[in-house]
Amino acid sequence: MSNLLDANMPVQNMDVLIIGAGPAGLACAARLGERGIASVVLDREPQPGGLPAQCEHAGFGLFTYKRLMRGREFAARLLQRAERANVNIHTNTTVLEVTDAREALAVSPNGLQRYRARALVLATGCRELPRSTLAVAGTRPAGIFNTGVVQRLHTFLHSAPGRQAVIVGSDDMSLMAAPSLIQLGVRVRAVLEERPYRQGYLGLEWLTLRPRRIPLLLHHKILEIRGGARVQEILVARLDANGAPRGEPFVIPCDTLIFSGEFVPENVLARQLNLALDAHTRGPRVDQNFETDVRGIFACGNLVHAADAADHALADGEQTARGVFDFLQREHAEPQSVQQILAGDGVRAVVPQCLRWYDAQCAPVHLAVRVSHALWGVRVRADTAERNFGRAYTFAAKPHRSIYLKISPNVSSDEPLRVSAHGRVTSD
Ligand SMILES: Cc1cc2nc3c(=O)[nH]c(=O)nc-3n(C[C@H](O)[C@H](O)[C@H](O)COP(=O)(O)OP(=O)(O)OC[C@H]3O[C@@H](n4cnc5c(N)ncnc54)[C@H](O)[C@@H]3O)c2cc1C
Repeated sequence: MSNLLDANMPVQNMDVLIIGAGPAGLACAARLGERGIASVVLDREPQPGGLPAQCEHAGFGLFTYKRLMRGREFAARLLQRAERANVNIHTNTTVLEVTDAREALAVSPNGLQRYRARALVLATGCRELPRSTLAVAGTRPAGIFNTGVVQRLHTFLHSAPGRQAVIVGSDDMSLMAAPSLIQLGVRVRAVLEERPYRQGYLGLEWLTLRPRRIPLLLHHKILEIRGGARVQEILVARLDANGAPRGEPFVIPCDTLIFSGEFVPENVLARQLNLALDAHTRGPRVDQNFETDVRGIFACGNLVHAADAADHALADGEQTARGVFDFLQREHAEPQSVQQILAGDGVRAVVPQCLRWYDAQCAPVHLAVRVSHALWGVRVRADTAERNFGRAYTFAAKPHRSIYLKISPNVSSDEPLRVSAHGRVTSD
């Protein structure tokens, strides 16, 4: 028994408990429901849908629904599918604790709830780590936010964080923050990026910054945040090839700074369960069905590769449902073969980290691959010492976004599979 779970507390028993009603959790629940397996989905937010439910902007669903949708529309469509499959969703329900006996303790407006399931799915997504703010010199006045706050202010509160903003970071979330701020009546003075290249898509820069003439200052860094009660200005330097300040620093007046933090998996529950974590992704290590190293406990979506597109989280959820379905059919089966997947040359991380097969049948697997450096003209491949299991070419790859490689595994092979990526290292 855990610290919080009380043995005398009434327990709700079920086949499958899913924590997180984002694209990964909802897709998993919907797929299971369509196959006749009932599940309960818990989410701490008042509305299901995860992060897309907070996003007014379009940019979702191209892969799944073949058209660009607003985040809220994408979430609503997935929710409809889950409701048609009779999925039971409990919102305003925060899971405080989980145990390897697949029990969960949650708190909701109805008080403490205790759940016990045959299979447990963690789909808790990721959170924005505002680490970059800590590394900036100067005072800590009011007016410093992260991109997630901008989405919430824009979608739910319709309230501006300030009057003149600078966005720090050039990933997709930062680029999307610019139009949201402008719609809230904020003037966006500039987008700063310390790296010599833009992190987000070029197309998104064309859609969000260029029509509004917002300068994207690559290879620029904040030297100091200045202000008393509120941010008043920032001191900015251009960087040289070694990342050191070059030339005279300059001042940008602003009362608001929007930092795009690093996205890290929301892995508190995974750590409570002592699941094996990947040193690079910081999410649980999983096999091709998103089963962790503990039988019957699954992890998927941004929890295992933060932060990729919602379509990928949805696809993970569907694949997890297949794994859960198989697990419920043969709970005590032992795998016939286990093959490790390793990050080779030019690769920082790969998900899944291993393949486990329980019978002679195996199916193609999509690997989410993170490169070590930004590359152009990327050849990515997966090999054992003896043969190749899949290869692909992609125009460009950046370290914070997965590229996908389809492999055709062989159930009789237990030699480690090494994934490598080669291309021209770019600073562009
Ligand atoms: C600002 C921003 C803009 C984005 N824009 C795009 C875009 O344009 N296009 C795109 O494809 N993707 C976009 N994304 C990425 C997309 O939102 C994610 O890929 C997707 O939401 C991941 O789905 P998920 O189910 O893994 O996690 P999430 O959507 O994060 O869902 C996880 C859920 O778990 C719940 N949860 C966590 N811990 C607990 C707990 N202890 N108890 C109960 N519930 C819990 C959370 O409340 C949350 O609802 C954006 C992300 C951000 C942050």
